[in-house]
Amino acid sequence: MRLSRFPLATTKEMPADAQVISHQLMQRAGYIRKLGAGLYTWMPIGLKVLQKIEGIVREEMNRAGALETLMPAIHPAELWQESGRWEIMGAEMLRLKDRHGAEFCYGPTHEEVIVHTARQDIRSYKQLPINYYQIQTKFRDERRPRFGVMRAREFIMKDAYSFHMTHEDLAREYDNMRQAYIRIFTRLGVDFRPVQADSGNIGGSASEEFHILAGAGEDLLAVAEGGSYAANIEAAATLPQPAPAAPSATLSKVSTPGQKTCEQVSKFLSVPLTGKVKLLVVKGAEGGLVAIALRGDHQLNEVKAGKHPLVASPLTLADPAEVQRLFGAEVGYLGPVGCPVPVIADHAAAAVADFVCGANENDHHLSGANWGRDCSYVEQADLRNVVEGDPSPDGVGTIKFYRGIEGGHIFQLGRKYTEAMRFSVLNEAGEAVTPYMGCYGIGVSRLAAAVIEQKHDANGIIWPDAVAPFRVLICPIGSDRSPAVKDAAEALYAALQAKGIDVALDDRGQRPGSMFADADLIGIPHRIVIGDKGLATQQYEYKQRAAAAAEMIPATVEAVLAK
Ligand code: ATP
Ligand code: MG
Ligand code: MG
Ligand code: MG
Repeated sequence: MRLSRFPLATTKEMPADAQVISHQLMQRAGYIRKLGAGLYTWMPIGLKVLQKIEGIVREEMNRAGALETLMPAIHPAELWQESGRWEIMGAEMLRLKDRHGAEFCYGPTHEEVIVHTARQDIRSYKQLPINYYQIQTKFRDERRPRFGVMRAREFIMKDAYSFHMTHEDLAREYDNMRQAYIRIFTRLGVDFRPVQADSGNIGGSASEEFHILAGAGEDLLAVAEGGSYAANIEAAATLPQPAPAAPSATLSKVSTPGQKTCEQVSKFLSVPLTGKVKLLVVKGAEGGLVAIALRGDHQLNEVKAGKHPLVASPLTLADPAEVQRLFGAEVGYLGPVGCPVPVIADHAAAAVADFVCGANENDHHLSGANWGRDCSYVEQADLRNVVEGDPSPDGVGTIKFYRGIEGGHIFQLGRKYTEAMRFSVLNEAGEAVTPYMGCYGIGVSRLAAAVIEQKHDANGIIWPDAVAPFRVLICPIGSDRSPAVKDAAEALYAALQAKGIDVALDDRGQRPGSMFADADLIGIPHRIVIGDKGLATQQYEYKQRAAAAAEMIPATVEAVLAK
């Protein structure tokens, strides 16, 4: 590609809402442009990355024996009513009406559609097992779209669905998909972890997420150092309860689980409490830890504050000054999934990013979670009574916390959807039986951002070769003055193209400084500089994007290919 014909829309402008580095860099390097909340256009250079990620996903899904399909984005409401999810999905599902008043949704996921499709076509055990997939646009009306394409409303997902005669066969395919996912994430060139997951709203039994480790991740992972246990904190096993601590103990020692009994909390706070209790743990201004118990069933109008040494003072969440005075700026949320507390975050912790952490259940994300991204808050994990340094639940290794970006998620659904939607097939004995089902998602568009979160420096993106928009960029110096440079650049460009290398030639006639700045910002992994000086000794200057310095290499196609 000639950059004169492939305009780079690099810019210094940064959208005010770009909180994380991937969003900033994708915007500055001209990969994406915002249309509205959670809606992005993929510019030509961005689409090249998206298509490379898609290509890897498609290749590995095909290799694993899955069959590509393409399903509609708009689904009739009846299907979702049949599965019972029309009600459950809540506000995250975008609902529409056609000109006749018939109801539809824009598909946030496709279990209903695929079961409906399969039940029309698949009648016999002889047609199973089968695994269908698609790479397609989803819409989820996220409560808080942000981080650019990482938590968008419209996004690209690869979703696969398999059907089986037995649970054992489902387990076999689940493992087949797990292996395919390991190949996909390995080929993307990122540091990732498969972790046990909560299957949330989608339902089913076994479930694992594939996380890209990065500080901007919205999920917290409990990983056993020196062992194999790894789980999203949403799904982390509850460890044995520690003995009740004396009120003077530090909070981490007290190790309060998310939903304690009233009795335990009352004792801890030295405050009488009744009803269901939700816990919120806050780090005080002077570093001391503070606990608040939210009283009643999701009622936020009254809280009790306890501080070490324990002070119990009633205060209302409508009083931000008081919250600030008591707790300082940093607020961490520990309540169980679904308990709405962002009031505190909005007022008292405006200076702190308030995370929404991913639960799979709609409207059941933890909102207003404000722990430090460096995981300095061990107490947050009290949600599941897991603390950093704990022994792993399987007894091997010690728990350490990581932040992760959920890039993929696989589930054994069992017969939840096939049963609800009356999908049956004939077995060998000619009896109608309900097939088992699995589903397997990958956030294709989210992955582009997730890779950047891991691979960047102060100058811009550092794409791994496999997903870079171009693998090689040729930068001729002074080609307007030097026919030799121009010819050499053109010849190398043609030769690399002939070898099937995705190469770009910067023929815009820019000065070296701005050419190199653009090359670094957009993140091309290999840069070849061609100038009169080097040509005099038959050399090109080569720089790997991540390397500290450039080196001289022989001015031959072979020398370039060797890099
Ligand atoms: P999250 O916990 O981040 O909300 P999810 O658990 O709701 O994600 P799944 O239903 O498991 O998502 O969907 C499969 C994949 O789709 C996820 O693993 C993720 O990579 C991607 N994905 C989900 N929601 C979004 C979104 N709003 N924007 C971009 N990608 C998304
Ligand atoms: Mg999730
Ligand atoms: Mg979600
Ligand atoms: Mg998920």
